[in-house]
Amino acid sequence: MLKGFLVGLVVANGFEWVAHKYILHGTHRSGKPRYSPVPDSMKSHWEHHREVRKTTFHDHGYVEGISNWRTKNEIISLAVVAGAASVLFYPISKGMAAAAVYSACNYYYIHRRAHLEPDWAMKKIPWHYDHHMNSNQDANWCVTKPWFDYILGTRVISSQNLQEQNPLGIALPQSISKVLNFVAENYFPAKWVETMPKLEVKV
Ligand SMILES: [Zn+2]
Ligand SMILES: [Zn+2]
Ligand SMILES: [Zn+2]
Repeated sequence: MLKGFLVGLVVANGFEWVAHKYILHGTHRSGKPRYSPVPDSMKSHWEHHREVRKTTFHDHGYVEGISNWRTKNEIISLAVVAGAASVLFYPISKGMAAAAVYSACNYYYIHRRAHLEPDWAMKKIPWHYDHHMNSNQDANWCVTKPWFDYILGTRVISSQNLQEQNPLGIALPQSISKVLNFVAENYFPAKWVETMPKLEVKV
């Protein structure tokens, strides 16, 4: 059950990456609007981006709740995905099915809170702050945890204070974070918006 749950969390993170990139942002086509298999969700999401950039990361749609069409669209979409995924996973693994439901709820909780409390977002999910506020918004696709952005090389950090403690995006003891950062720097390096000269400390 636990193993299935953990695998489910990883799958859900991969899904966040894919759905955010290809459904919510859509595929760029020269001379034509972006293509998304779910155009309404793409429309809703770009409206979210516009709102967030106008209001220093705040999205009033979450204050309005279900009466806001974008918030409603997000809740329904998450319910559909979680429902379909858990039906699909249940015969294989109850843990994975549980992870699908958990991940959808967690996504809504994290994303909503982030856009109601921007300071919290900068500390807890700095990758999503970068997603909205960087000049290139087509990067930093993961929302709850930055895993697949590290794996696929799409974590683009804007400044040192928006770099997560480690690539798992989980608060861990310094010694473990150090090892994880070493692995990330060597195998899954994050990109930086501008190449900042690293401080060379002379001993
Ligand atoms: Zn986005
Ligand atoms: Zn507001
Ligand atoms: Zn957002």
